[in-house]
Amino acid sequence: MGLFGEKKPKTCPVCNRQFSGIGWSLPDGVLCDTCWHQVEDHFENDDILEEEYSVEGARRYIADRKNRKTAKPVPKIYKPQPLRISDSCMNCGAPVDEEAAVLRDRSPICDACASEVRIIYPLIRTLIQEPFEGDEEPILLDSLNRITYPEFQKALTVAAETRNRYRQHYGNCKAVFLVDDNRRIEKRRSWNCSVKGRTVYGMVQAKDRFAVRRRERTYQDTIMGLDIPYYYKLSGRMSDAIPEGYAGSLVFDHDIPYIYPGDILIIN
Ligand SMILES: [Zn+2]
Ligand SMILES: [Zn+2]
Repeated sequence: MGLFGEKKPKTCPVCNRQFSGIGWSLPDGVLCDTCWHQVEDHFENDDILEEEYSVEGARRYIADRKNRKTAKPVPKIYKPQPLRISDSCMNCGAPVDEEAAVLRDRSPICDACASEVRIIYPLIRTLIQEPFEGDEEPILLDSLNRITYPEFQKALTVAAETRNRYRQHYGNCKAVFLVDDNRRIEKRRSWNCSVKGRTVYGMVQAKDRFAVRRRERTYQDTIMGLDIPYYYKLSGRMSDAIPEGYAGSLVFDHDIPYIYPGDILIIN
């Protein structure tokens, strides 16, 4: 036997073809490259150990390949918004782009008109995790997808009333922000504190001051910056503010240990 082992070709026990080279060893046989590449994903997807695998297992997995490919895909959890019937806002006639809201009856609504009712029909940011996929993906669920244009017209009145109630209740503040989550985000050399939530009234901007009332006292601080999701592409309006009915994060360079999920921040 030479230094590089025997040169005699081997026969693959799965496809019965001859091959040269080292091949891929299983406990009961050596597979050719072609067959190995067809079972490789089996190890990754199904957490199988090579030392417990068998030639018969590989044979079955390869034979079943066609069935796996034609298997029905797992239905998506997220339904994209309905196709719109025209390129202009049903309410004001302004041209709309791809990002515009679409009602249940497929009427498009421009950003400006949608903003009028976001106080009662918010654009919800949430996460989607598909089976067998690794990371969670942020998605937007538009509550405007649920209503028709006649309902939208009524919503305009209800929204104005709701806004008035907020104004009365919170005493002419600039905005009200509802907290979903408070987390510290570690970076390579620094960290920051991110308070995720939604503006339920008014508009939140960087450098705004806020107050949160706790039993022992009222805490106040200044919002250092905003982290606005990249997928909000609303005519640039979203780059420096979190408007009514939209989600986003308030960013701080220090801990905000007195803010909890469910808190209401009064922005002045
Ligand atoms: Zn083979
Ligand atoms: Zn409009």
